[in-house]
Amino acid sequence: MTIEGIASEPAEAVLGDYDVIILGAGPAGLASGIYARRAGLEAMILERGVPGGQVLTSPNIENYPGFPEIPGMKLMDLMAEHAKRYVEIKEGEEVVRVRSAEKFELWTASGGRYTSKALILATGSSHRKLEVPGEERFVGRGVSYCATCDGFFFKGRDVIVVGGGNTALTDALYLHSIGAKVSIVHRRDSFRADKHLQDAVRSHKIPVMWSTVVDEVIGNEEVTAVKLRELKTEKTEKRPIQGVFIAVGEIPSSQLASELGLEMDQGGFVMVDKNFRTNVPLVYAAGDVSGGIRQIVAAVHGGAAAALACFEDLMSPYYSRLP
Ligand code: NAP
Repeated sequence: MTIEGIASEPAEAVLGDYDVIILGAGPAGLASGIYARRAGLEAMILERGVPGGQVLTSPNIENYPGFPEIPGMKLMDLMAEHAKRYVEIKEGEEVVRVRSAEKFELWTASGGRYTSKALILATGSSHRKLEVPGEERFVGRGVSYCATCDGFFFKGRDVIVVGGGNTALTDALYLHSIGAKVSIVHRRDSFRADKHLQDAVRSHKIPVMWSTVVDEVIGNEEVTAVKLRELKTEKTEKRPIQGVFIAVGEIPSSQLASELGLEMDQGGFVMVDKNFRTNVPLVYAAGDVSGGIRQIVAAVHGGAAAALACFEDLMSPYYSRLP
Protein backbone atom coordinates (compact mmCIF):
# COMPACT_ATOMS: atom_id res chain seq x y z
CA MET A 1 0.00 0.00 0.00
CA THR A 2 1.25 3.46 -0.73
CA ILE A 3 0.72 6.54 1.36
CA GLU A 4 -0.74 9.64 -0.18
CA GLY A 5 1.77 12.39 -0.66
CA ILE A 6 4.96 10.42 -0.15
CA ALA A 7 5.92 10.42 -3.83
CA SER A 8 5.88 14.22 -3.92
CA GLU A 9 8.21 14.54 -0.91
CA PRO A 10 11.96 14.92 -1.29
CA ALA A 11 13.64 11.51 -1.27
CA GLU A 12 15.66 11.33 1.96
CA ALA A 13 18.85 9.29 1.83
CA VAL A 14 18.34 5.67 2.88
CA LEU A 15 20.14 5.17 6.19
CA GLY A 16 20.14 1.42 5.87
CA ASP A 17 18.92 -1.44 3.69
CA TYR A 18 18.27 -4.80 5.34
CA ASP A 19 16.84 -8.24 4.77
CA VAL A 20 14.49 -7.67 7.67
CA ILE A 21 13.67 -4.76 9.95
CA ILE A 22 12.14 -5.57 13.31
CA LEU A 23 9.89 -2.96 14.88
CA GLY A 24 10.00 -2.98 18.67
CA ALA A 25 12.57 -4.21 21.17
CA GLY A 26 10.40 -5.98 23.71
CA PRO A 27 10.82 -9.73 24.27
CA ALA A 28 9.35 -10.58 20.83
CA GLY A 29 11.53 -8.11 18.93
CA LEU A 30 14.71 -9.05 20.78
CA ALA A 31 14.12 -12.77 20.20
CA SER A 32 13.44 -12.02 16.53
CA GLY A 33 16.72 -10.13 16.28
CA ILE A 34 18.73 -12.99 17.78
CA TYR A 35 17.09 -15.64 15.57
CA ALA A 36 17.22 -13.56 12.39
CA ARG A 37 20.91 -12.77 12.73
CA ARG A 38 21.82 -16.32 13.73
CA ALA A 39 20.02 -17.48 10.56
CA GLY A 40 22.32 -15.18 8.60
CA LEU A 41 19.85 -12.41 7.79
CA GLU A 42 20.87 -8.77 7.73
CA ALA A 43 18.57 -7.55 10.48
CA MET A 44 18.10 -4.44 12.57
CA ILE A 45 15.70 -3.39 15.33
CA LEU A 46 14.03 0.01 15.49
CA GLU A 47 12.74 0.87 18.97
CA ARG A 48 10.85 4.07 19.73
CA GLY A 49 12.01 4.19 23.36
CA VAL A 50 14.42 1.88 25.11
CA PRO A 51 14.53 -1.92 24.84
CA GLY A 52 12.26 -3.87 27.18
CA GLY A 53 8.64 -3.06 26.41
CA GLN A 54 5.90 -3.46 29.02
CA VAL A 55 7.96 -5.92 31.07
CA LEU A 56 10.06 -2.99 32.29
CA THR A 57 7.13 -2.00 34.52
CA SER A 58 6.83 -5.40 36.24
CA PRO A 59 8.46 -5.22 39.65
CA ASN A 60 9.11 -8.93 39.76
CA ILE A 61 8.93 -11.74 37.22
CA GLU A 62 8.57 -15.24 38.61
CA ASN A 63 7.27 -17.21 35.63
CA TYR A 64 10.03 -16.92 33.04
CA PRO A 65 11.82 -20.28 32.99
CA GLY A 66 15.38 -20.13 34.28
CA PHE A 67 14.74 -17.05 36.42
CA PRO A 68 12.81 -18.01 39.56
CA GLU A 69 12.67 -14.37 40.63
CA ILE A 70 13.94 -11.36 38.71
CA PRO A 71 12.84 -7.70 38.38
CA GLY A 72 11.32 -7.00 34.96
CA MET A 73 13.91 -4.34 34.25
CA LYS A 74 16.79 -6.70 35.01
CA LEU A 75 15.37 -9.48 32.84
CA MET A 76 14.96 -7.11 29.91
CA ASP A 77 18.47 -5.67 30.40
CA LEU A 78 19.83 -9.20 30.13
CA MET A 79 17.69 -9.95 27.07
CA ALA A 80 18.73 -6.70 25.36
CA GLU A 81 22.42 -7.28 26.12
CA HIS A 82 22.12 -10.77 24.66
CA ALA A 83 20.38 -9.46 21.53
CA LYS A 84 23.00 -6.74 21.05
CA ARG A 85 25.65 -9.42 20.61
CA TYR A 86 23.92 -10.16 17.31
CA VAL A 87 21.79 -7.29 16.18
CA GLU A 88 21.90 -3.51 16.12
CA ILE A 89 19.13 -1.83 18.08
CA LYS A 90 18.42 1.76 17.14
CA GLU A 91 16.82 3.32 20.22
CA GLY A 92 14.59 6.39 20.19
CA GLU A 93 13.68 5.69 16.57
CA GLU A 94 9.91 5.69 16.19
CA VAL A 95 8.60 4.50 12.85
CA VAL A 96 5.86 6.89 11.81
CA ARG A 97 5.18 5.78 8.24
CA VAL A 98 5.63 2.67 6.23
CA ARG A 99 4.89 1.71 2.67
CA SER A 100 5.30 -1.37 0.61
CA ALA A 101 6.72 -0.85 -2.86
CA GLU A 102 9.49 -2.95 -4.40
CA LYS A 103 10.83 -3.09 -0.85
CA PHE A 104 9.37 -1.94 2.43
CA GLU A 105 10.21 1.67 3.16
CA LEU A 106 10.11 3.08 6.68
CA TRP A 107 10.31 6.65 7.89
CA THR A 108 11.12 7.52 11.48
CA ALA A 109 10.08 10.54 13.52
CA SER A 110 13.66 11.81 13.49
CA GLY A 111 13.67 11.85 9.68
CA GLY A 112 15.44 8.52 9.07
CA ARG A 113 14.51 6.37 6.10
CA TYR A 114 15.20 2.64 5.96
CA THR A 115 14.38 -0.11 3.50
CA SER A 116 14.04 -3.88 3.86
CA LYS A 117 12.79 -6.98 2.11
CA ALA A 118 10.76 -8.08 5.13
CA LEU A 119 9.25 -6.67 8.31
CA ILE A 120 8.57 -8.14 11.71
CA LEU A 121 6.10 -6.14 13.78
CA ALA A 122 6.74 -6.54 17.49
CA THR A 123 5.25 -3.24 18.53
CA GLY A 124 3.38 -4.56 21.57
CA SER A 125 0.29 -3.16 23.21
CA SER A 126 -0.55 -0.97 26.14
CA HIS A 127 -2.96 -1.59 29.00
CA ARG A 128 -6.13 0.41 28.83
CA LYS A 129 -6.33 2.60 31.93
CA LEU A 130 -9.31 3.46 34.14
CA GLU A 131 -8.06 7.03 34.25
CA VAL A 132 -9.24 7.68 37.79
CA PRO A 133 -7.42 9.54 40.58
CA GLY A 134 -4.80 7.41 42.36
CA GLU A 135 -4.50 4.80 39.58
CA GLU A 136 -1.17 5.97 38.19
CA ARG A 137 0.27 6.92 41.60
CA PHE A 138 -0.15 3.40 43.00
CA VAL A 139 1.09 1.34 40.04
CA GLY A 140 3.41 -1.29 41.56
CA ARG A 141 2.12 -0.38 45.04
CA GLY A 142 -1.25 -2.11 44.91
CA VAL A 143 -2.39 -1.27 41.38
CA SER A 144 -1.50 -3.88 38.78
CA TYR A 145 -2.40 -4.66 35.19
CA CYS A 146 -1.08 -8.22 35.35
CA ALA A 147 -2.44 -10.77 37.82
CA THR A 148 -0.06 -13.53 36.75
CA CYS A 149 2.90 -11.17 37.30
CA ASP A 150 1.92 -9.59 40.61
CA GLY A 151 -0.85 -11.78 42.06
CA PHE A 152 1.44 -13.83 44.25
CA PHE A 153 2.12 -10.82 46.51
CA PHE A 154 -1.59 -10.68 47.37
CA LYS A 155 -2.07 -14.14 48.84
CA GLY A 156 -4.55 -13.86 51.75
CA ARG A 157 -5.25 -10.21 51.02
CA ASP A 158 -8.40 -8.40 49.83
CA VAL A 159 -8.24 -7.48 46.15
CA ILE A 160 -10.59 -6.46 43.38
CA VAL A 161 -10.41 -7.18 39.67
CA VAL A 162 -11.95 -4.50 37.47
CA GLY A 163 -13.46 -5.59 34.14
CA GLY A 164 -15.84 -8.12 32.67
CA GLY A 165 -13.90 -9.66 29.78
CA ASN A 166 -11.93 -12.89 29.48
CA THR A 167 -8.84 -11.32 31.05
CA ALA A 168 -10.72 -10.02 34.09
CA LEU A 169 -12.40 -13.35 34.80
CA THR A 170 -9.21 -15.34 34.14
CA ASP A 171 -7.36 -12.97 36.50
CA ALA A 172 -10.05 -13.32 39.18
CA LEU A 173 -9.88 -17.12 38.97
CA TYR A 174 -6.08 -17.02 39.09
CA LEU A 175 -6.06 -14.73 42.15
CA HIS A 176 -8.69 -16.92 43.84
CA SER A 177 -6.61 -20.04 43.12
CA ILE A 178 -3.52 -18.58 44.79
CA GLY A 179 -5.48 -17.62 47.89
CA ALA A 180 -6.28 -13.93 47.42
CA LYS A 181 -9.70 -12.77 48.66
CA VAL A 182 -10.95 -11.49 45.32
CA SER A 183 -14.12 -9.73 44.15
CA ILE A 184 -14.92 -8.52 40.65
CA VAL A 185 -16.07 -4.97 39.91
CA HIS A 186 -17.83 -4.63 36.58
CA ARG A 187 -19.48 -1.57 35.05
CA ARG A 188 -22.42 -3.47 33.51
CA ASP A 189 -24.82 -6.13 34.76
CA SER A 190 -23.49 -8.88 32.52
CA PHE A 191 -20.07 -10.15 31.52
CA ARG A 192 -18.72 -10.26 27.99
CA ALA A 193 -16.34 -13.06 29.00
CA ASP A 194 -16.77 -16.59 27.63
CA LYS A 195 -19.48 -18.67 29.28
CA HIS A 196 -17.09 -21.27 30.69
CA LEU A 197 -15.24 -18.51 32.57
CA GLN A 198 -18.51 -17.08 33.87
CA ASP A 199 -19.53 -20.56 35.06
CA ALA A 200 -16.18 -21.02 36.79
CA VAL A 201 -16.49 -17.64 38.56
CA ARG A 202 -19.95 -18.65 39.76
CA SER A 203 -18.89 -22.11 40.88
CA HIS A 204 -15.98 -20.67 42.88
CA LYS A 205 -18.42 -18.18 44.44
CA ILE A 206 -16.30 -15.16 43.55
CA PRO A 207 -18.37 -12.10 44.53
CA VAL A 208 -19.28 -9.69 41.74
CA MET A 209 -20.18 -6.03 42.20
CA TRP A 210 -22.36 -5.41 39.15
CA SER A 211 -22.95 -2.03 37.54
CA THR A 212 -20.20 -0.56 39.66
CA VAL A 213 -17.21 1.59 38.80
CA VAL A 214 -14.05 2.61 40.61
CA ASP A 215 -14.00 6.38 41.09
CA GLU A 216 -10.73 6.60 43.03
CA VAL A 217 -7.84 4.51 44.30
CA ILE A 218 -6.92 5.58 47.83
CA GLY A 219 -3.80 4.95 49.91
CA ASN A 220 -0.68 6.29 51.58
CA GLU A 221 2.49 4.38 50.64
CA GLU A 222 0.34 1.57 49.23
CA VAL A 223 -3.29 1.10 48.27
CA THR A 224 -5.61 0.91 51.28
CA ALA A 225 -9.06 1.40 49.71
CA VAL A 226 -11.08 2.16 46.62
CA LYS A 227 -14.03 4.47 46.20
CA LEU A 228 -16.76 2.56 44.38
CA ARG A 229 -19.94 3.91 42.82
CA GLU A 230 -23.00 1.82 42.04
CA LEU A 231 -24.26 3.21 38.74
CA LYS A 232 -27.97 2.44 39.13
CA THR A 233 -28.32 4.12 42.53
CA GLU A 234 -25.26 6.46 42.38
CA LYS A 235 -24.48 5.17 45.91
CA THR A 236 -20.79 5.45 46.76
CA GLU A 237 -18.73 3.33 49.14
CA LYS A 238 -15.14 3.46 50.39
CA ARG A 239 -14.05 -0.16 50.43
CA PRO A 240 -10.85 -1.25 52.22
CA ILE A 241 -8.68 -3.18 49.77
CA GLN A 242 -4.98 -3.93 49.25
CA GLY A 243 -4.89 -4.76 45.55
CA VAL A 244 -6.59 -3.38 42.44
CA PHE A 245 -6.12 -5.51 39.32
CA ILE A 246 -7.23 -3.59 36.27
CA ALA A 247 -8.24 -5.74 33.28
CA VAL A 248 -10.25 -3.42 31.07
CA GLY A 249 -8.61 -4.33 27.78
CA GLU A 250 -5.46 -3.84 25.79
CA ILE A 251 -4.73 -1.32 23.10
CA PRO A 252 -2.53 -2.95 20.45
CA SER A 253 0.09 -0.71 18.87
CA SER A 254 -1.07 -1.59 15.39
CA GLN A 255 -1.25 1.73 13.53
CA LEU A 256 1.51 0.64 11.15
CA ALA A 257 -0.29 -2.65 10.62
CA SER A 258 -3.27 -0.81 9.16
CA GLU A 259 -0.99 1.15 6.85
CA LEU A 260 0.37 -2.14 5.56
CA GLY A 261 -3.11 -3.57 5.02
CA LEU A 262 -2.70 -6.34 7.59
CA GLU A 263 -5.77 -8.24 8.68
CA MET A 264 -6.70 -7.54 12.29
CA ASP A 265 -9.28 -9.01 14.64
CA GLN A 266 -12.08 -7.00 16.27
CA GLY A 267 -9.75 -5.84 19.03
CA GLY A 268 -7.22 -4.49 16.53
CA PHE A 269 -4.70 -7.33 17.09
CA VAL A 270 -2.80 -8.44 13.98
CA MET A 271 -3.94 -11.86 12.76
CA VAL A 272 -1.14 -14.35 12.19
CA ASP A 273 -0.80 -18.02 11.28
CA LYS A 274 1.06 -20.52 13.43
CA ASN A 275 4.37 -19.30 11.98
CA PHE A 276 3.46 -15.68 12.74
CA ARG A 277 3.01 -14.77 9.06
CA THR A 278 0.39 -12.09 8.40
CA ASN A 279 -1.80 -11.93 5.30
CA VAL A 280 0.83 -9.73 3.58
CA PRO A 281 3.84 -11.65 2.20
CA LEU A 282 7.07 -11.00 4.10
CA VAL A 283 5.33 -9.22 6.98
CA TYR A 284 5.21 -11.02 10.33
CA ALA A 285 3.80 -10.03 13.71
CA ALA A 286 4.73 -11.38 17.12
CA GLY A 287 4.22 -10.58 20.78
CA ASP A 288 1.34 -8.58 22.20
CA VAL A 289 0.48 -6.82 18.91
CA SER A 290 -0.69 -10.23 17.67
CA GLY A 291 -2.78 -10.94 20.81
CA GLY A 292 -2.61 -14.38 22.45
CA ILE A 293 -1.70 -15.05 26.07
CA ARG A 294 0.47 -11.96 26.49
CA GLN A 295 3.26 -13.59 28.45
CA ILE A 296 7.02 -13.05 27.99
CA VAL A 297 7.53 -16.69 27.17
CA ALA A 298 4.91 -16.50 24.40
CA ALA A 299 6.37 -13.28 22.97
CA VAL A 300 9.82 -14.86 22.82
CA HIS A 301 8.35 -17.87 21.03
CA GLY A 302 6.52 -15.65 18.54
CA GLY A 303 9.58 -13.54 17.82
CA ALA A 304 11.79 -16.55 17.20
CA ALA A 305 9.18 -18.29 15.04
CA ALA A 306 8.59 -15.13 12.98
CA ALA A 307 12.32 -14.73 12.32
CA LEU A 308 12.63 -18.35 11.19
CA ALA A 309 9.56 -18.06 8.95
CA CYS A 310 11.08 -14.89 7.50
CA PHE A 311 14.36 -16.70 6.81
CA GLU A 312 12.47 -19.55 5.12
CA ASP A 313 10.42 -17.15 2.97
CA LEU A 314 13.41 -15.09 1.87
CA MET A 315 15.34 -18.23 0.94
CA SER A 316 12.46 -20.01 -0.75
CA PRO A 317 9.55 -17.62 -1.21
CA TYR A 318 6.30 -19.45 -0.42
CA TYR A 319 4.25 -16.63 -1.92
CA SER A 320 5.76 -17.12 -5.37
CA ARG A 321 4.53 -20.71 -5.22
CA LEU A 322 0.95 -19.79 -4.42
CA PRO A 323 -1.59 -20.39 -7.21
P1 NAP B 1 -12.04 -7.02 26.56
O1 NAP B 1 -12.63 -8.28 26.07
O2 NAP B 1 -12.02 -5.83 25.69
O3 NAP B 1 -12.83 -6.65 27.90
C1 NAP B 1 -12.59 -5.47 28.56
C2 NAP B 1 -13.54 -5.37 29.74
O4 NAP B 1 -13.25 -4.19 30.44
C3 NAP B 1 -15.01 -5.31 29.33
O5 NAP B 1 -15.79 -6.04 30.24
C4 NAP B 1 -15.34 -3.82 29.44
O6 NAP B 1 -16.65 -3.59 29.85
C5 NAP B 1 -14.43 -3.38 30.55
N1 NAP B 1 -14.01 -2.00 30.40
C6 NAP B 1 -13.47 -1.39 29.32
N2 NAP B 1 -13.18 -0.11 29.60
C7 NAP B 1 -13.55 0.09 30.89
C8 NAP B 1 -13.51 1.20 31.77
N3 NAP B 1 -13.00 2.38 31.38
N4 NAP B 1 -13.98 1.06 33.03
C9 NAP B 1 -14.47 -0.12 33.44
N5 NAP B 1 -14.54 -1.21 32.67
C10 NAP B 1 -14.08 -1.11 31.40
O7 NAP B 1 -10.52 -7.18 27.05
P2 NAP B 1 -9.76 -8.48 27.60
O8 NAP B 1 -10.59 -9.17 28.62
O9 NAP B 1 -8.42 -8.02 27.99
O10 NAP B 1 -9.64 -9.41 26.33
C11 NAP B 1 -8.96 -8.95 25.16
C12 NAP B 1 -8.94 -10.07 24.11
O11 NAP B 1 -8.14 -11.14 24.58
C13 NAP B 1 -10.33 -10.63 23.89
O12 NAP B 1 -10.44 -10.95 22.53
C14 NAP B 1 -10.35 -11.85 24.73
O13 NAP B 1 -11.24 -12.84 24.26
C15 NAP B 1 -8.89 -12.33 24.63
N6 NAP B 1 -8.55 -13.11 25.83
C16 NAP B 1 -8.84 -14.43 25.81
C17 NAP B 1 -8.58 -15.20 26.93
C18 NAP B 1 -8.97 -16.63 26.95
O14 NAP B 1 -9.53 -17.09 25.99
N7 NAP B 1 -8.71 -17.32 28.02
C19 NAP B 1 -8.00 -14.63 28.05
C20 NAP B 1 -7.71 -13.28 28.03
C21 NAP B 1 -8.02 -12.53 26.91
P3 NAP B 1 -17.91 -3.81 28.88
O15 NAP B 1 -18.11 -5.28 28.80
O16 NAP B 1 -19.02 -3.07 29.57
O17 NAP B 1 -17.53 -3.19 27.57
